[in-house]
Amino acid sequence: MTIAIENTTWKAEHSDLRFGGPVALVVGNAPLFQDFHCSMEGQEDSQFVPDMTPRVYHKAGLAVYECEAHLAAAPGTRLHQVLRYGANHFRAVYDLSWAKGAAMTAPVEVASCTLVGRWLRVLAVPRGTTPDQAQWQPIGAETLVWEDAPASLLVEREDGVRLEYSLGFDLWRWDHGLGITSPSRMELVPGAEGLALRHFVAIPPPLPEPPEGEEAPLGPIPEARQYRFCTMVAWSVPTTPSGELADVPVAFAADGRLDTAQLRSLELATQVPVIDFQQMPGVDSFRRLAPDGSRSAFCWECDRVLTLAKKLIRQVAALGSEGTLVLRGLQPGFCQEARHCDKKGALPHWDLEDIVTFVNWCHAQLGPGWRLLVPQKDGWEDLPSLQGLSLPIGFDY
Ligand SMILES: [Zn+2]
Repeated sequence: MTIAIENTTWKAEHSDLRFGGPVALVVGNAPLFQDFHCSMEGQEDSQFVPDMTPRVYHKAGLAVYECEAHLAAAPGTRLHQVLRYGANHFRAVYDLSWAKGAAMTAPVEVASCTLVGRWLRVLAVPRGTTPDQAQWQPIGAETLVWEDAPASLLVEREDGVRLEYSLGFDLWRWDHGLGITSPSRMELVPGAEGLALRHFVAIPPPLPEPPEGEEAPLGPIPEARQYRFCTMVAWSVPTTPSGELADVPVAFAADGRLDTAQLRSLELATQVPVIDFQQMPGVDSFRRLAPDGSRSAFCWECDRVLTLAKKLIRQVAALGSEGTLVLRGLQPGFCQEARHCDKKGALPHWDLEDIVTFVNWCHAQLGPGWRLLVPQKDGWEDLPSLQGLSLPIGFDY
């Protein structure tokens, strides 16, 4: 099964026979990475027993790949995966179920792969920071290890192509792992096949030698339940410059919507409405909460923020089927406000994935005649996922 958008330079290959993937992601004529997989009990998901025929369908402008399978030796240990492909990225949701009473005998990997070619350097963006605060590191012959998986990893190949590997919004889930061992460790391992990117959510500790005559312990037993992990992968693609159009910031009316009279007065052939989402009226609890209790920009994991923002996009969609629109105030950030995730207390999350999802929704809502520009700052502009927000999402909508 090939997933590709017409006139784009990349395609994703999923096997008709093997579960999981993609088997390869090709940009131009060369594979960027291959063997995207999860691993449980020493088996890659491609060796699992399928519970459904993997399928691909299009929804809201995205191509969706979905499959489910289980371990032959422990049918209760299963993996359901959904990958949603957009203009130059996919977002993956893994639901991993652990069989009741089953011991963990091998590391559990989620969303590992092998990067193909010669990779020169890597930028790791730790949580709570911005990319311009991080330093590029050279990639040599040694394995690079992050005991706490960075929020984003940007890896650059010798031809300049970049791969971004970002955690989903659910940082707390990666922190928790399977609840028994130190989770979310990332490694870049140079090898003959390429550069292996390995992402562990659980590594069983070494077991002590049993006293003579006794059986060796099997390993820790995770709680039997479903564990969800979200992640996103993006790759660099050429983007078009914005051209010579006049930007017009759109004012907000007292009810929090865009000023209708001003919107209607715009000449969309020459003028570009600019929406600055951070100027939306909204209460404090919609904003990102820092560990020190301070509030900053709106958090895009908060449903209420999305509801307000979507109303504004619908107002613009009503203007017509063509135009250019600038969306400001869509920089990713980190937040502890559990209410944004429908939970209580403090819960670390971030909203890069939410921003990508929201802009995909904007493309689908406005239609292919609209061009979207989403300026970034603080080094976020280097992330392919954010660079690609101006691209049409491409699949049927
Ligand atoms: Zn939040």
